[in-house]
Amino acid sequence: MISDQVKKRLKSIVGKENVLTRQEDVLMYAYDATNRHYQPSAVLFPSHTDQISEVMQLANRVPFNVIPRGAGSGMTGGALAVKGGVILCLAKMSRILEVDRQNLIALVEPGVITSDLQAAVEDVGLFYPPDPGSVKFSTIGGNVAECAGGMRAVKYGVTRDYVRGLRVVLPTGEIIRTGVRTAKGVVGYDLTRLMVGSEGTLGIMTEIILKLLPKPEAKKTLLALFSVIDDAAAAVSKIMTSGVTPSTLEFMDQACIRCVDQALGLGWPTDAEALLLIEVDGRLGQVDVEIKELAGIIAAFSPQQVTVAQTAEEVDSLWRARRSMGPALANIRPGKINEDVVVPISAIPDMIRAVEAIKTRYQVNILTFGHAGDGNLHVNVMLDWNDPDETARAHYAVDDIFKQVIALGGTLSGEHGVGITKSVYLSYELNQAEIDIQKRIKRTFDPNNILNPGKIFP
Ligand SMILES: Cc1cc2nc3c(=O)[nH]c(=O)nc-3n(C[C@H](O)[C@H](O)[C@H](O)COP(=O)(O)OP(=O)(O)OC[C@H]3O[C@@H](n4cnc5c(N)ncnc54)[C@H](O)[C@@H]3O)c2cc1C
Repeated sequence: MISDQVKKRLKSIVGKENVLTRQEDVLMYAYDATNRHYQPSAVLFPSHTDQISEVMQLANRVPFNVIPRGAGSGMTGGALAVKGGVILCLAKMSRILEVDRQNLIALVEPGVITSDLQAAVEDVGLFYPPDPGSVKFSTIGGNVAECAGGMRAVKYGVTRDYVRGLRVVLPTGEIIRTGVRTAKGVVGYDLTRLMVGSEGTLGIMTEIILKLLPKPEAKKTLLALFSVIDDAAAAVSKIMTSGVTPSTLEFMDQACIRCVDQALGLGWPTDAEALLLIEVDGRLGQVDVEIKELAGIIAAFSPQQVTVAQTAEEVDSLWRARRSMGPALANIRPGKINEDVVVPISAIPDMIRAVEAIKTRYQVNILTFGHAGDGNLHVNVMLDWNDPDETARAHYAVDDIFKQVIALGGTLSGEHGVGITKSVYLSYELNQAEIDIQKRIKRTFDPNNILNPGKIFP
């Protein structure tokens, strides 16, 4: 809890209209996309870097914890006040400060909604590729803090690949700039890379320089169903080494196919073990050649069904199936633990088989879909949070899934980060020396451990 005197001081820094302290007002900032709940003492909406610096200086003096927050769509609890404190919500710092068409750069504040930036740059013929499923509500600041990925990562990479530089308020209140506006720059340590994916634990980003690309002229979409999952996986490997890199290469397992088919009545073959949804983008004409080439590759792997969309409506109907995946899951169980593991592409069938075994072992329903082109699988362990027995079995299943991922040479998280939900599993992937050096970095940045404490490290 913070004192009335501190609340008064916070109001004088950011303006009293930009501070929430009543329990009923702060309640909605007690949640994110996890199933956890931690009530903060106050919520602040700063509008300038200098205000944030003053808040951090006060926080060190008093002391109290500060938790940065964008839209609160994080899947691992990063924006929750797990040790109490004040939420610093960047939603009001939402200006696109500059779009430099000649140098293919945007300068933005952290609270810009990702799809707003995409639309703004597309209006002038440019392209910002990172597109997490939460694109319509998540913020660029949250994307940078989590190094968000998404469906286009297979061709275009993740948020990290687009961040050139940052303005950051350090936990101590000092203000720094990292990185450059130019394509190259190697002066000093690469603090930009360190900040990207640091989950709001090393500093608060208040300005972000992003790299842009020219907007692709055209797209082509293809959907393929396979009766044998190994054929789908072999097709993915062949595609990824073919020289034609799709802009998306999405995968669904049999349970997902049945779940979506039931929800939308698509008439898909119920014995299909795998689905691939593939898109290519680029110049007009070139995309026709590329999609034909990919269809030819797929034909060699005995698909049950291949559809290449010919019209915008057909494209939309193919994507509708993928977009319906999340909502359709709710027909299975009311809750889910959604992990975003990554395995080498060639290990996808082994991972799917392991998940099948884990399902049987713990008698829980698990559905897997994801970004096959980069091996990033969203493994959804379905449960009813009100059923303690099922919840315990689901957690055992997650534990086994993580062990399997590491055994296959993968990583626990491709895009959602560690936060609080994965911190207990950190040692599955990192040894003690690797954890210790990261803790020392945290202490250097934040000697009083007041910025987003209780995250990443168990
Ligand atoms: C339906 C749905 C689909 C999703 N799909 C994807 C997907 O495809 N790919 C993917 O990668 N993620 C996905 N996510 C997860 C989530 O949307 C991303 O992690 C997103 O980047 C979080 O952005 P946010 O603005 O909501 O951040 P928040 O949840 O508010 O915060 C996330 C973290 O960032 C920190 N933070 C926020 N702003 C700042 C800042 N300015 N400075 C420093 N730290 C900051 C917070 O402290 C916290 O640790 C999905 C989530 C949902 C609910």
